[in-house]
Amino acid sequence: MTGKLDGKVALITGASMGQGAAEARRFAQEGARLVLCDLPARQAELDALAEELPTEAVTHPFDVSDPAGWESAVATAEETFGTLDVLVNNAGMLDMNGVEGTSLETWNRVVAVNQTGVFLGMKTAVPAMKRAGGGSIINISSIFGLIGSGGAAAYSSTKGAVRLLSKTAAVELAGLPIRVNSVHPGVIDTDMVTHVVPDEVTEALLAATPLGRKGTPDEIAAGVAFLASDDASFITGAELVIDGGYTTS
Ligand code: NAD
Repeated sequence: MTGKLDGKVALITGASMGQGAAEARRFAQEGARLVLCDLPARQAELDALAEELPTEAVTHPFDVSDPAGWESAVATAEETFGTLDVLVNNAGMLDMNGVEGTSLETWNRVVAVNQTGVFLGMKTAVPAMKRAGGGSIINISSIFGLIGSGGAAAYSSTKGAVRLLSKTAAVELAGLPIRVNSVHPGVIDTDMVTHVVPDEVTEALLAATPLGRKGTPDEIAAGVAFLASDDASFITGAELVIDGGYTTS
């Protein structure tokens, strides 16, 4: 523990598993107090994580596509801890269908979660961060927010939108000061890859990854914690690519 996030209060979505849980553990190790959010169906896992952490954490289940859920989550942060300094828009869903195979219903749901959820999170957190005197927002995009995926039409389009929404917000909010950055993971060892991506697709992605392996959730959490910390005080509107070199060639 280095205490890089001492005194900060952070809200993390999708915190019950995968990268979100790793971010929660890393943030707590660095001293942050946490509002852990995920879908209501993940309440038990959120509670177990909150119990395990070395700093104070409260849980607040809601669906990130729900504006009222966001209002109550941000209110929970301020009522419990008196402030909100960091928002990690980590929750996301993957659909592997291409343009032709994506139903309108699936398209709308992926946009609602991955894109509208990030918008609502920033929109709702900014007034609280203003009251806090500033803040840091980290939006989790993907390598497929930087380059085409050859499939995953809805997912890739939302991740591209998150990249430019982050830059747009970075300019808008710089004077407050609220920093806004996007993170672009490559193939990371979580349920999203194990359960949704076909094995042959994962193998092809890893074959094109210079470091030749999946990343770990901890390797993403380290980058997210850096962007949340004052070590990143002059970094806004940036893209932190953590992909084992996938997008370099
Ligand atoms: P994961 O499937 O393990 O975790 C996703 C989390 O988001 C889960 O806890 C899930 O319950 C939550 N979630 C999903 N829909 C939600 C909703 N509507 N409201 C609230 N919470 C919701 O996947 P992960 O790999 O940990 O993904 C974290 C983020 O990283 C996602 O935004 C994902 O798109 C992104 N990402 C993942 C990879 C990868 O290889 N795993 C690569 C690039 C980007």
